[in-house]
Amino acid sequence: MVNTAPYSKEDILFILAGIVDPEIPVVTIQEMGMLRDVILMDDLCEVIITPTYTGCPAMGIIEHDIVELLIQNGVQNVKVTTSYSPAWTTDWMNDGTKEKLKNFGIAAPIHSSCTNWLNPKSVIVSCPRCNSTHTTMISQFGSTACKALYKCEDCKEPFDYFKCH
Ligand SMILES: [Zn+2]
Repeated sequence: MVNTAPYSKEDILFILAGIVDPEIPVVTIQEMGMLRDVILMDDLCEVIITPTYTGCPAMGIIEHDIVELLIQNGVQNVKVTTSYSPAWTTDWMNDGTKEKLKNFGIAAPIHSSCTNWLNPKSVIVSCPRCNSTHTTMISQFGSTACKALYKCEDCKEPFDYFKCH
């Protein structure tokens, strides 16, 4: 057995690019900004991930997916580390990712500074279907805790808003 890993950081990132967010299967964890870093040391491959919010139940699934996929690709010694600092921010998502969320029916956050959850009515969220800004928040918790449930007053459709923080 050789100690030196036969793969580079780029190889690992390429493999991990196939992992999607279990809650939003149209975007990868890389696009969500959850994949922070890959550290190769001797034969250990450490993957650093940051949850979109503390206690996100999807993290267990993501961690399992990472280990499974890397092992399938011949990377034997995998360690997944969850980092909470710096905390994930919706600013780590690029415009293309926000567009994918919108096409999936989730209103993407505009900017982290846009949300004041102490005063959620101050947030203007546009409908992902008809772009109307005439929307109302129904519940601060949508299909998952990191989303809020909104309703469009124009097309009358409910939709999820990815809370920015
Ligand atoms: Zn609408």
